Amino acid sequence: MDYSVIADAYGRIEATSKRLEMIDILVDLFMNSAKDVVSRIVYLTQGKLYPDFVGVEIGIAEKLAVKALVRASGGKEGDVLADLQRTGDIGQVAELYLANRKQSTFFSKVLTVERVYEVLDKMARTSGVGAVDMKMAVFAGLLSDASPMEARYLMRTVTGNLRLGIADMTVLEALAVAFGGGREVRGVIERAYNICSDLGRVADMLVREGVDAVGGLCVGVFEPIRPMLAERLSSPEEILEKFCGKCLAEYKYDGERIQVHKQGERVVLYSRRLENISSQYPDVADLVRRQVKAGEVIFEAECVTVDLETGDMRPFQELMHRRRKYGIEAAVEQYPISLYAFDMLYVDGKDLTCEPLTVRRIALEGVLERNVQLQVAAQKAVCSPKELEDFFEEAITGGCEGLICKSLARESVYQAGNRGWLWIKFKRDYKSEMTDTVDLVVVGAFHGRGKRAGAYGALLLAVYNKEKDIFETVTKCGTGFTDKDIEDLHAMLQKHVIPRKHSRVLSTMEAEVWFEPYIVLEILGAEVTLSPIHVCAMDAIRKDSGLAIRFPRFTGKYRTDKSPQDATTSKEIVEMYQKQLKQITN
Ligand code: AMP
Repeated sequence: MDYSVIADAYGRIEATSKRLEMIDILVDLFMNSAKDVVSRIVYLTQGKLYPDFVGVEIGIAEKLAVKALVRASGGKEGDVLADLQRTGDIGQVAELYLANRKQSTFFSKVLTVERVYEVLDKMARTSGVGAVDMKMAVFAGLLSDASPMEARYLMRTVTGNLRLGIADMTVLEALAVAFGGGREVRGVIERAYNICSDLGRVADMLVREGVDAVGGLCVGVFEPIRPMLAERLSSPEEILEKFCGKCLAEYKYDGERIQVHKQGERVVLYSRRLENISSQYPDVADLVRRQVKAGEVIFEAECVTVDLETGDMRPFQELMHRRRKYGIEAAVEQYPISLYAFDMLYVDGKDLTCEPLTVRRIALEGVLERNVQLQVAAQKAVCSPKELEDFFEEAITGGCEGLICKSLARESVYQAGNRGWLWIKFKRDYKSEMTDTVDLVVVGAFHGRGKRAGAYGALLLAVYNKEKDIFETVTKCGTGFTDKDIEDLHAMLQKHVIPRKHSRVLSTMEAEVWFEPYIVLEILGAEVTLSPIHVCAMDAIRKDSGLAIRFPRFTGKYRTDKSPQDATTSKEIVEMYQKQLKQITN
């Protein structure tokens, strides 16, 4: 099939901004295509060669594309660059230079879609020594045989500038009309796309096997499923109303969404955008191999950096260290992660996407061997705004962003690729920062694990309530301590160990070791939040809620100069909380 047919259609698509006209042009193009090239046309129309998850990208640097144009057209590099500067459109420049080329090639071959695809594929897969020259040479060969109009689109395609503005859904609609008998079947085709994320594959199946075959497509390992998304509401009342009074609230972990695919020992991890991100998380793949007891499985989880000694979650920003090509081993060591699994989509031949949430959750719990690094999302069935609000605060205190409230109805299927009211997120509209450090009293501790075995892994810290002359817990902190600190603290605290909670300490959290209030440490946190767990300033802001410090970190300063009564007071924490609120409303 001639590439000029595609180029012509692109020209017409560019000339319209009307979606319906675009669809008509695409329908026309598809119907005039040979069956076996439709999938390639679908990819090319989106400026791709494969679906994103395959990870093969077209794309050469503009500089290289210019060199190829110079070679194919006989123009001067300086002129081409100047024209590029002037127009800002490399496609237009290619068209111009090929229209004015000095000598036309008498024996030029007609460009076919097959050849264009093959050459672009070869270019995309070439790497290593000599790759740059080779890419330039083959692309120049393609341009030499191109008409000016074809060159315009070839050039935009290879430089990643095609941008015809054709959305996936527009292609699906055109496919439905061209090969499915009409727009009515779009839903069937869309569902197939949502569970395999491969427009070319759906097109190919539709053309060859018909719409019934497409309707029968099932999820399968190593074909990422387009993620289900959540709507948003800002009050517990509204949320419960949407769910007719009852829902399942789950912690909304603040990390990266990962769709895990496993078949035997082979594990592939896909991002929310369905890119293959396995190389960033070799530790996740190992965890899955070791602790997921099923032959074939697809599940979703949020990946969060964690302090392995304490099990505490760390801020989202730390995950950024995983976004790198080199040095991943060091990042794995320095920024360990935990996976919080929240949905099961497929297990050992069974597609679960049409099952209700509770069934999927049971399946999820059934195959995971849990430990600190592999857990299931914390959840609670709630029926009142108060219950929802309390669980929300618990989530925030635990280092989460809020809650995802999920429908418990029988229709609570996994809506691949859709944002709907089966999931509703509940998070705060603001982000606030704690700028001041606080001085907190050590009142309890938890035994360490791993490197901290034999010492304390985390400390329970309190503020001083001057009015009542007691110490109220405000956070649990296991971060910021060097190995030496861990050793020193263990020795220092030994002298203050007591058999049970001190009479002047108020805490609902049960520490494993209690101390008399004596040692004061300087701590920096991310923010002050309402908390159902910590008892600092209980009821001062809201009934049955205390205040807590999120993401606490030891600054390295032992406040030996301060007695416990000189520590930060509950009143000061209330003021910090109110100041934060003010910053937000201003
Ligand atoms: P947002 O990115 O704000 O639209 O919120 C949706 C995201 O929350 C999802 O894409 C997941 O990455 C993340 N998430 C965290 N915990 C959960 C959970 N328990 N269930 C579903 N999604 C979750």
